[in-house]
Amino acid sequence: MANPKRRHSKSRRDKRRANWKISLPDLSFCPQCKEPKLPHHVCLHCGFYNGKEVIKIKEKKEKKEKGEKKQIKEKKQVKEKKQIKEKKEIKGKKEKKADKK
Ligand SMILES: [Zn+2]
Repeated sequence: MANPKRRHSKSRRDKRRANWKISLPDLSFCPQCKEPKLPHHVCLHCGFYNGKEVIKIKEKKEKKEKGEKKQIKEKKQVKEKKQIKEKKEIKGKKEKKADKK
């Protein structure tokens, strides 16, 4: 039986594997909304397949949630700013007291 004389070195194996790369999947474009989608799959942007709406996609809710998150962040920032201001005021009062002594 034919047998390899030597096994391939780790270096040789790793050089071979160094050329394995991730590739983008082949994409086609949705005829409904022109967004890229996987071929033979329902369009995840508009929910259409073969000219029919197969899935109902909720877009507005996601946007609302994002908006709510932003509002919460802004509220937090305002609170933090207020706390910093209060701390500064307290420090200023302490300094004034120290000056009086
Ligand atoms: Zn689409």
